[in-house]
Amino acid sequence: MQVNQAEILISAVAPKQYPDTGLPEIALAGRSNVGKSSFINTLINRKNLARTSSKPGKTQTLNFYLIENQFHFVDVPGYGYAKVSKAEKAKWGPMIETYFTQREELRAGIVVVDSRHAPSKEDIQMYEFLKYYDIPTIVVATKIDKIPRGKWNKHESMVKKGLGFQPEDDFILFSSETKHGKEQAWQIIEKYLDL
Ligand code: GDP
Repeated sequence: MQVNQAEILISAVAPKQYPDTGLPEIALAGRSNVGKSSFINTLINRKNLARTSSKPGKTQTLNFYLIENQFHFVDVPGYGYAKVSKAEKAKWGPMIETYFTQREELRAGIVVVDSRHAPSKEDIQMYEFLKYYDIPTIVVATKIDKIPRGKWNKHESMVKKGLGFQPEDDFILFSSETKHGKEQAWQIIEKYLDL
């Protein structure tokens, strides 16, 4: 998809605030700093629409973006952000659980992980959570520009093994620096959107 139009619709914490356009949605989750905002910005050809790096102390919200009037990207607040208060952390679980279990417009979840390292406990939990609820999942292993090409296969295997990756899901090696994987990501997203 060639994106010219992209805007934030709303930052929501509860279902009554979710947009009621009826458009299909793709939700993205990942540890803070993994490169989730950069992934979104790369796909929609923007430098800074999705906020890069969540700010400490800021309310953690689900951010709904309208893309080309055709679908929503839903940016799920990053997990594992040490500086978020205990009270904010306690709200994160129920908020994302409500979204992922109740949102009819949801077509697929994207779990963004760091291609350099074995998945964290929270990455594994996130992936298993989506699998438990039968949500089709795309794993994006980003920052692949930091790995020499000769080791890409090894890192792909490490990430897949760590997550318990299931063959029916999609897997993308990605870089927002070189844009490697951008075309593949759009192909897969468009498959789920069924536009
Ligand atoms: P978020 O907190 O998951 O939204 O992460 P950001 O998108 O803000 O990225 C966190 C940091 O990683 C920033 O300094 C980015 O420039 C950097 N980053 C993100 N993606 C990549 C990538 O593909 N390659 C490299 N080398 N750096 C990246």
